[in-house]
Amino acid sequence: MALISINLQDGSVIKDQDVIIGIDLGTTNSLVAYMQGGQPVCVKGPDGKNTLVPSVVHFPDDGTVLVGDAAKDRLITDPANTIYSVKRLMGKSYKDVENIQAFFGYRILDDDTEALVKIRVKNRYYTPVELSTQILRELKRRIEEELHTPVSKAVITVPAYFNDNQRQATRDAGKLAGLDVLRIVNEPTAAALAYGIGLDPTLPEIIAVYDLGGGTFDISLLHIHDGVFEVLATNGDTFLGGDDIDRAVVDFFCSQLNLDTEILAEDKSLGQELRLLAESAKKALSGAEHFDGRAMGKPVRITRAGLEALMHPLVQRTLDCCRNALQDAGISPEQVGKVVLVGGSTRIPLVRQKVAGFFGKPLFDSLNPDEVVALGAAIQADILAGNQKNLLLLDITPLSLGIETIGGLMDTIIPRNSKVPNKAGRQYTTSVDGQKNLKIAVYQGERDLVENNRKLGEFILRGIPPMPAGLPKIDIQFIINADGILTVRARELRSGLEQEIDIRPTYGISEEDMAQMLLDSIAHAQEDMQQRGVLEARNEANNLLKAGEKFLQQNDTLLSPEELQTTRALLNALQEAAQSADKDHIHRAIENLNDFTAPLAHRAMEQTIRTAIRGKKVSS
Ligand code: AMP
Repeated sequence: MALISINLQDGSVIKDQDVIIGIDLGTTNSLVAYMQGGQPVCVKGPDGKNTLVPSVVHFPDDGTVLVGDAAKDRLITDPANTIYSVKRLMGKSYKDVENIQAFFGYRILDDDTEALVKIRVKNRYYTPVELSTQILRELKRRIEEELHTPVSKAVITVPAYFNDNQRQATRDAGKLAGLDVLRIVNEPTAAALAYGIGLDPTLPEIIAVYDLGGGTFDISLLHIHDGVFEVLATNGDTFLGGDDIDRAVVDFFCSQLNLDTEILAEDKSLGQELRLLAESAKKALSGAEHFDGRAMGKPVRITRAGLEALMHPLVQRTLDCCRNALQDAGISPEQVGKVVLVGGSTRIPLVRQKVAGFFGKPLFDSLNPDEVVALGAAIQADILAGNQKNLLLLDITPLSLGIETIGGLMDTIIPRNSKVPNKAGRQYTTSVDGQKNLKIAVYQGERDLVENNRKLGEFILRGIPPMPAGLPKIDIQFIINADGILTVRARELRSGLEQEIDIRPTYGISEEDMAQMLLDSIAHAQEDMQQRGVLEARNEANNLLKAGEKFLQQNDTLLSPEELQTTRALLNALQEAAQSADKDHIHRAIENLNDFTAPLAHRAMEQTIRTAIRGKKVSS
């Protein structure tokens, strides 16, 4: 729907062909941006300066809802009714966030650990989606006020590592806020777009986006070619950022004041005073060489060199993540052409110096690092509005996706770090004669056995026409759309029978779990390989046992009593071997049976052919 609006203040006509806004829905702060005269701009708050809306929601006693700065002010005075960092809870179950529960000052419901988390405020329960909706409504309100026109279409950014469920939750929040979410875009991709990187399709390159905010760190490597943004790898730490530096400075001040840090847990207002002082010291030291302040009536002092010594291990941790991302992508720092800085903490000189040194490249840092993602989201919105053609965005899958096959084995269909959107498939068949149904269970993870991976969902392909085992051709396709949402489609090719599901897992997976799953897959690689070997040998043995029984039933008149007896004995031996956990033992029993029965099978086949030639009916 195209909109034409009149500015009631000055009577000017606002041309608004489908204004599509760009939203950075952040952990600490959120922003909204749009294109003005071909340039992206962030909407400012009532003070005419600040573009950041703190991602904080407060529920006062009067039943209203406060969002942003007004809510942030209540963090100290009314923590139980003031919700922050809700992004960390999007698409998560209590089980996923149990180990970080202490981080939140409000109540997270814990009576159903598998279900999506809910937050208790007074006598009501809120989902993270509903709380994010409140933040999005505030952003929508702000931009509508600025443009004097209703806005209904948006692009929202999410971290590159967000899984299906977290992306879906973000989309749902947009919908509840009255926004048609046209695209969920990765934050690093938006940051690159903000610098115009990738807008010239003739210049292929690899870029790194280093994002150090208040509470989280992300590094993403993008390969940009032919107007396509492809995320090669991502890495990071969900609890590493400016807040950690503030805590280190608070500890430093405490030692200057001869204060036991334990006291701060009890005296919340002193804790808050020192935290604010530490943050302003840190910010001041991004420009000055030393900082002098007062706390509890006494002077405190910190130099830039002192701050750098405190920060050094934290910065080192971010570089370790960068190293891991490069390794995952299989590239060296020299192959990275540009480095884009995102997040308020990249204003710190030590961070910039270390990052520039690590990649050996000049930094892209001319834009406000707090705004860069929102600005890029507005550019993406502009691309979707059709104003910038030939651009497409690709992501990657953070974990492998596959299905369970016989024996509980994981059969990977789309490997980890594959491009998104993506489509891949494989053909399967039945294992039992006349099998009518086939269960398709979809898993995510790197381990060989599905029991060690994470189940995303399952469905049953019903009504396969009766056929001997092995004859049906069941084609299973995995389709991941541009938002990273997976659809699994199963089709029996002989009959055309088809069924599909969209995978919307009941709860998301935490980044910590994801990292743990990857580590586990490496640690258990040897053991998994052995287990897979045993299970595959067992599957082969079971198939052979079934075929052997059938052979004996159909050919008992053709075989001598000795041959029958030996075949039986070898089948029994195989049955026994199949119970063992020694794959070589199973393989030996398979070989013994095959060696003995191969000439018998040959004879049986000749007999069948002779019978057929004589014009008699061939037995099935
Ligand atoms: P973000 O989450 O991207 O908004 O980043 C906020 C973080 O950036 C907070 O930890 C701020 O203290 C930090 N920050 C903002 N400005 C500066 C600055 N000039 N120097 C150091 N840190 C800063």
